[in-house]
Amino acid sequence: MRFRELSECYSKLESTQKKLEMVDILANTLSKASNEEIGKIALLTLGKIYPDFVGIELMLAEKMAIKALAVATGKNEKSVAQIVEEVGDLGKTTQTLLEKKSQSTLLSFTTQKDDTEYEIIDVWTKLDSIAQTKGEGSSDKKIRILSGLISKVSPLEARFITRMVVGQLRLGVAVQLLLEALSKAKTGTREKKNILERAYNLTSDISFISEKLYKEGIQSVEEIKVQIMNPIKVMLAQRVSSADEILEKFEGKVSLEYKYDGLRVQIHKKADKVKLFSRRPEDITEQFPDVIEFIKESAEQEDFIIEGEIVAFDLKNEKILPFQYVSQRKRKHDIEQKISEIPVRVYLFDALFAENRVFLDEDYLQRREILFKVIKETENIRFSHQIIAENTDEIDDFFHQALENSCEGVMGKSVGQNSVYQAGARGWNWVKYKADYVDKLSDSFDLVILGAEYGKGKRAGKYGTFLLGCFDVEESIYQTFTRVATGFSDDDLAYYFKLLKPLAREKPKEVLSDIDCSVWFDPRIVIEVTGAEITRSQMHTCSRGYFENENDGLALRFPRFTGKLVDDRPPEQATSNEEIRTIYLKQ
Ligand code: ATP
Repeated sequence: MRFRELSECYSKLESTQKKLEMVDILANTLSKASNEEIGKIALLTLGKIYPDFVGIELMLAEKMAIKALAVATGKNEKSVAQIVEEVGDLGKTTQTLLEKKSQSTLLSFTTQKDDTEYEIIDVWTKLDSIAQTKGEGSSDKKIRILSGLISKVSPLEARFITRMVVGQLRLGVAVQLLLEALSKAKTGTREKKNILERAYNLTSDISFISEKLYKEGIQSVEEIKVQIMNPIKVMLAQRVSSADEILEKFEGKVSLEYKYDGLRVQIHKKADKVKLFSRRPEDITEQFPDVIEFIKESAEQEDFIIEGEIVAFDLKNEKILPFQYVSQRKRKHDIEQKISEIPVRVYLFDALFAENRVFLDEDYLQRREILFKVIKETENIRFSHQIIAENTDEIDDFFHQALENSCEGVMGKSVGQNSVYQAGARGWNWVKYKADYVDKLSDSFDLVILGAEYGKGKRAGKYGTFLLGCFDVEESIYQTFTRVATGFSDDDLAYYFKLLKPLAREKPKEVLSDIDCSVWFDPRIVIEVTGAEITRSQMHTCSRGYFENENDGLALRFPRFTGKLVDDRPPEQATSNEEIRTIYLKQ
């Protein structure tokens, strides 16, 4: 398939907000894709060239894309940058400038280029070489490849290519929508989406499952199994705010564990090879060579997939350190220095695969037994501290013990039948009971920055107030929940201005808001916020449609930024509207 056809499909997708219509538009184009190209089309449609866990990303700086555009159009770089700034959209600017250029040289892309038009695979290959070009002179080389590419394709294609390279495709197509479209394209109905979603949760690889679907049919997708070295989407927890609630949820018996305040890690081992994946899931192996060694030393079996939490550890005082420490270990440079500055420990809590057997469908306590067999405890590899509790006193005691031991609270896990590992789901088989939930005035939320207003006085020239939203998983949209201006230091404001400015754009269609903002952003940055109370509000769209008055939504009162940038998960894993409703109803 030609990349032009895919671009026309993207353009149509941009013109509608209706989810079903988007599924149909996308399915129509996907149904024409060949078995060889469908995997790449699926990735490109999500703005990627490889699945997240492969670690090869496009993400060219906007400055470099502007240079490439200047070369392609023969314009001066400064004036291109200025137009981009005015238009607020690199893709649109690319299209307009190339259209103008083609008009002035009297070339028509439609008539002139049919035979030489780029196939999707060709464009993917060029993007891949941009992403993989490294080392000395790589910036110039990347610019050359990009300018060569955009001067050879039509202006519409160039619009989407430049957006892809800077990581701002902005089609409003989330994985869920793509899965529905794939189902419709290949089976004629959206109903097989669940089968695709299951396979996606087990492999985190959209290209693999779409190729499988096209080559071998939906039945073979149904048979897809866990594959070692492909991260499984992690299971997440619901929140509860009392020991009673835990007992009630688990009918009187629960596995309680410390909730360590660190980084979730899924560890894959195959013979001598060990890989670590974050919950996003990204490959974080390189940042933790020390953990790789700990695992190799402690492993009792050849192959396994296990899960745990990496925490920073104060060796002198034998104490777990807060999240802020371990998060510094995520940097990709000065790794050796960071290892000695911030030593870590891993607290393991689950086993998902070992010696060729998948354990996702086993009950939790059986999975823990397997964990004890595949690896042994050493200085730096520990099993999460656990008890089986059957009354609230035991839960409260354990909870306070957890806090004394520098943990965030406790995890409660079902030990009943069906206490399976629900990949990719935030179900009720796991709950979290954190210190901040005890005092309901300090509930914390991970919210997406949707827009901002410029600050005044000391804050002039920076963003001063931020519009924050939650994610509606069913509809794949962001809903507004609060506006926050408190809790930001001067350094924070400078930092967030720099971080957000390149993400400024027209109001994204996946944002449902009645509030207007001076600046809208790509919904990508997640921050942690606390608040006093959740109230009904006709100003905010969070959970609108769930109350008797159909204009009512939910709003967070007296919000305050906690200082924490939540960068270990995608925005789709921010606090959901459903979670907010649950907390509201509990209030
Ligand atoms: P939070 O920000 O509250 O950690 P989250 O959205 O990252 O939440 P949840 O599934 O809601 O993830 O809460 C559970 C998280 O707690 C896990 O993702 C994991 O990172 C961490 N954790 C710490 N200790 C444990 C444990 N013993 N069992 C499971 N998860 C644990």
